Amino acid sequence: MQLYLDNAATTHIKQEVLDEMIKAFEHYGNSEAKFYDVSELAKDDIRKARKKVADLVCAKPEEIVFTSGATEANNLVIKGSYYHSTKQKKKIIISSVEHSSVYDTCKYLEMQGLELVELKVDSTGMIDLNQLKDEIDENTILVSIILVNNEIGTIQDLKSIAKICENKNVSLHLDITQAVGKIEIDFYKSSAIKFMTFTAHKIYGPKGIGCLAIKTDQNGLKEEIVPLFHGGEQEDGFRAGTLSNELIVGFGKACEIAKNNLRTNQIKTRELEAILIEKLEQKFGDKFSINNNFDNRVHDILNVRLRSFNNLILLKAISPIVAASTGSACSVARPSRVLKNIGMSDLEISESIRLSLSPYMNKEDLKVIDLI
Ligand code: PMP
Repeated sequence: MQLYLDNAATTHIKQEVLDEMIKAFEHYGNSEAKFYDVSELAKDDIRKARKKVADLVCAKPEEIVFTSGATEANNLVIKGSYYHSTKQKKKIIISSVEHSSVYDTCKYLEMQGLELVELKVDSTGMIDLNQLKDEIDENTILVSIILVNNEIGTIQDLKSIAKICENKNVSLHLDITQAVGKIEIDFYKSSAIKFMTFTAHKIYGPKGIGCLAIKTDQNGLKEEIVPLFHGGEQEDGFRAGTLSNELIVGFGKACEIAKNNLRTNQIKTRELEAILIEKLEQKFGDKFSINNNFDNRVHDILNVRLRSFNNLILLKAISPIVAASTGSACSVARPSRVLKNIGMSDLEISESIRLSLSPYMNKEDLKVIDLI
């Protein structure tokens, strides 16, 4: 049986999620239509699910804008902020270890005149807070930071980042795609946090649905950004297009489960990680080392180096029994920018793989490692 260790890329769908989605398919009416029952049922599905999604991150339901996933949500917040700003010069500050959906979007805008600043990170992937403080100026329209890194699991020092943004009165966007379901998230932890993005398929929900949370003011008005899509008034005009009540119901259920299981899942992944490390040590001896051997991280993402094994050849060779990857599935063609920016050499990177666990695995599942 194959051991699936690529849960940071995507997860399986939970049966309870699927069951609720299947029911929602019967509510085929357009949720924006009026006067008839099937549309009211679809509308009701979305209302309930929106609350569950918001609850996971302590946001208000009306702050959730559904998108096709985190890539779209990241594009929406970054391009939307850029095109909305009337400043002559516009600056966005990101870290050098962002997911490609933030990084490449900013690189695209750079060609149109954006001043892009990439904050340095240390060997554990933590951003340079002094550099952040120094870089924020009157042209800065947004600071965008990945809260939990998708390749090395680093959890950023949100308290300090938010304080700096608060003091300088600049909007903070957090990509929390790899954080939800793993650490507590509170949209209201700081007034600087204006935007958050995440997706269903990393938390045992369906692919093709995610969201951008946009903070509202005391009058209930959202932070202003320009939408990516035009042609409909859905989602307050922030995202035109007919909503999929089926996918949204799945997202809502996945969020509800993630919230309920947060503590037990944290304990479970720590246990599984300890077993996995022990097995890899036994198997590979001193050829094995851990690239993210530090404390400030989530424990479902283990980035390891296996000396003298080329990662691509190794992954292919073990693929009949273990499914894993070198890093982000969104940028497989390039050597990991994240590992490079934490100071690893090309050789070290070429011998590294990411093993990402699921709290829904059993300890026994890891016995497969002995067969490598
Ligand atoms: N941000 C991060 C941190 C991610 O890990 C991913 C998924 N690879 C994304 C954004 C993009 O998410 P989606 O697949 O929903 O577009």
